[in-house]
Amino acid sequence: MTRTLTLLGATGSIGASTLDLVRRNRDVWQVEVLTAHSSAVELAALAREFGARLAVVSDEAALPALRAALAGSGIEAAGGARALVEAAARPVDITVAAIVGCAGLAPVMAAIERGGTIALANKEALVSAGEVMMAAVARHGATLLPTDSEHNAIFQCLAAGRIADVARITLTASGGPLRTWSQAQLDAATPAQAVAHPNWSMGAKISVDSATMMNKGLEYIEAYHLFPVGLDKLAIVIHPQSVIHSMVEFRDRSTLAQLGPSDMRVPIASCLAWPDRMDTPLAPLDLAAIGELTFFQPDEQRFPATRLAREAIRAGGSAPAILNAANEVAVAAFLAGQIRFTRIAAVVEETLQRSHDAPAPASLDEVLNVDRSARAQALSLLENTALV
Ligand code: NAD
Ligand code: MG
Repeated sequence: MTRTLTLLGATGSIGASTLDLVRRNRDVWQVEVLTAHSSAVELAALAREFGARLAVVSDEAALPALRAALAGSGIEAAGGARALVEAAARPVDITVAAIVGCAGLAPVMAAIERGGTIALANKEALVSAGEVMMAAVARHGATLLPTDSEHNAIFQCLAAGRIADVARITLTASGGPLRTWSQAQLDAATPAQAVAHPNWSMGAKISVDSATMMNKGLEYIEAYHLFPVGLDKLAIVIHPQSVIHSMVEFRDRSTLAQLGPSDMRVPIASCLAWPDRMDTPLAPLDLAAIGELTFFQPDEQRFPATRLAREAIRAGGSAPAILNAANEVAVAAFLAGQIRFTRIAAVVEETLQRSHDAPAPASLDEVLNVDRSARAQALSLLENTALV
């Protein structure tokens, strides 16, 4: 039996890992929609390879190039933000949400509103929309399958017990490439150093988030929404080897952990095959070769992002959306060489301080409004504190 699949963000790192699995199981999958922001030629090549029905570039300016690259293929082409949302609303068996940033929120909501099954890698969408997204999931009977490796690990561990019996959920964090750096070294960290992750190969934005620990901050908020145990039962531990992807402790002090190679094809496969299992091309886990698994307390002096995320979700309302928006702006500025590494968290904190009266968003439009104004606020802070 074939299953239909839509992949939002097909040209990215998660997109490539997903398509690698699909490529190995061509008889199982019928690709319905593939999307990208502006890389029309790359998207057209994937659409041709996988026989997609529709290819969408969210950047409308890239549509003529997409049309040209798809000429004669019989594959439909579309462009722009509205086309992206309409494509996500098409009925399919599974939607893989792999766009980076809050830009992926509207299409994810469209997939939720048709009651679909969504493999969610796009954590920023859930962080920004929080309650609005979870309410829509419940209202429309949608299924969210956590694809972020930590949340996928927790989801798998939770199959062993009842959520009411959970004493603690511990997110593991690699600590990123700058984990052991001094404050002075962090001040001078370059984009190349920040994206050089020791364990995972990922897109630039999440790589920087991993270096600042904001990735774990976003994941803490993500876990809060996906697994309703309350903030007091959510913990973070540094685990540099990234072998244990997260853990669930039950009230009898039994702790279950999920282990695996640090390759996103493992959690993606778990979502694609759920509730069954499928093969992946990865080598078996060789614990003797790994030798040691180590654990450390996070250092929130050098890496304040997890504190900021915790404060934002405690404050609730619009704070998580503001945190996420400011972080997206600050990370882009850092990658463009405009601000220092350590300014990223500072810009997030200052943006939150200046926007604290924003009301709690109650709809997708209101979330997008909060996102927009927080970006404007963060951008104006950048103008005042640029490096050069
Ligand atoms: P990436 O930068 O490699 O790819 C992003 C994809 O989104 C591309 O296809 C790009 O064309 C598209 N895109 C970018 N901006 C867009 C916009 N404004 N509108 C529409 N589409 C846009 O990112 P990635 O590393 O694959 O990460 C994707 C998501 O998955 C992120 O939310 C990230 O946090 C999450 N995630 C990634 C990993 C990983 O290993 N890469 C692990 C866990 C979670
Ligand atoms: Mg993760």
